[in-house]
Amino acid sequence: MHRITVVGGGFAGLTAAITAAEAGAKVTVYEAHHTLGGRARTAEGPYRTNEGPHALYNGGPHWIWLKQRDLIGPLAPIPPLEAARLRLRHHGVLRRTPPFALLKLLRPSVRQAPVDTDFLSWATGIAGEEGARAAANYSAVALFHHDPGALSAAFVQERLRRATKLPPEAHYPRGGWASVIDRMAARAWNLGVRIETLARVDTLPTDTPVVVATSLPAARRLLGDDSLTWPGGRTVLLDLALRTRRGDAFAVSDLDAPGWIERFTAQDRTLAPAGEQLLQGQIPIGPGEVRADGLARAEELLDLAFEGWRERVTWRREAVADGRTGAVDLPGSSWRDRPSVDRGDGVYLAGDQVAAPGVLSEVSFNSAVTAVSLILGRTALDLKHA
Ligand SMILES: Cc1cc2nc3c(=O)[nH]c(=O)nc-3n(C[C@H](O)[C@H](O)[C@H](O)COP(=O)(O)OP(=O)(O)OC[C@H]3O[C@@H](n4cnc5c(N)ncnc54)[C@H](O)[C@@H]3O)c2cc1C
Repeated sequence: MHRITVVGGGFAGLTAAITAAEAGAKVTVYEAHHTLGGRARTAEGPYRTNEGPHALYNGGPHWIWLKQRDLIGPLAPIPPLEAARLRLRHHGVLRRTPPFALLKLLRPSVRQAPVDTDFLSWATGIAGEEGARAAANYSAVALFHHDPGALSAAFVQERLRRATKLPPEAHYPRGGWASVIDRMAARAWNLGVRIETLARVDTLPTDTPVVVATSLPAARRLLGDDSLTWPGGRTVLLDLALRTRRGDAFAVSDLDAPGWIERFTAQDRTLAPAGEQLLQGQIPIGPGEVRADGLARAEELLDLAFEGWRERVTWRREAVADGRTGAVDLPGSSWRDRPSVDRGDGVYLAGDQVAAPGVLSEVSFNSAVTAVSLILGRTALDLKHA
């Protein structure tokens, strides 16, 4: 029987553990924190915020895998009236519909964007500079970078298409991603996976193959390998609870600069006490910017879309997610160029900044399945359908 050690009990680590255990391996997971989930943890208490994922994209590889195992649980659908309250800021004013030029980039006839060119140059050729800028900024909702137009056109276009699909790909587990994590942990437990929390690993074990399912910076320290780097975004997160007011926007996308605010209680009332709404602003900032710059942009959007919000605040929290929002690919690079899953000597990487396809947490999922398939000498397809 194969024995496998998994370091990290986030989405990647749990995916690796379940996949390996389903194939008959004896798995041990070590998680440094006292609870599982990593960035997919949902805060406890009256305001059920999520640091990381809210949306589970149903076009992704993890969706089918989770669904087949009944791990998604109840979803919180967006009521149609709320969905109609999506607003876009363009040229400083709020609008309901995207600029026509942006739509040109979504036509089925638009061919696959090139890897080697930046998105802004490529998209300008199709939609003009204004449409290209608006599209780049919209795509920030799925890539969290301060300058999406400067990234690889292929990388940005994939995210733009997924984030604008109709019907929308984004689905929301009721109660936040913690409910998915809890179900995954129960599945792992039932398969005989040994899970140790409050168990930070400082030295890699050498008696079993190891899946290092931590963030890339943590893997760099653990493996003592300075080459483990890849660009990512820096995003200011503003969590707010507001007293309910009829007519608030459901979400606001900034087409003038990257930024997104979403009222998550629109679809999931369980996230805040009755009479209050829970919002998160996600504003990517550049290398020369500080938290206050992101907060100022978030507040401008709030002023436009959430009337009287300052007088309605009942709770507020600010944070900067630095390198925690997944990989971004610069022109000339794709996911294949990121740090490889197989590090040699029985060590494998899983996480959202390594060489695997997908959007955001899908990279963690795909790399985890790849790591286990390499260890067990089975195909990823075979393991997914175990
Ligand atoms: C603001 C924001 C919004 C996002 N929105 C979305 C979204 O809507 N949809 C989506 O799909 N994705 C989203 N993501 C991305 C998603 O959160 C991540 O891709 C995913 O959660 C990463 O999971 P992971 O298991 O790879 O890493 P992590 O969640 O970081 O898990 C790593 C785990 O390893 C543990 N660990 C680290 N070092 C050690 C050690 N030495 N020993 C033991 N344990 C260790 C950590 O405690 C942690 O639990 C978002 C991220 C952010 C920050």
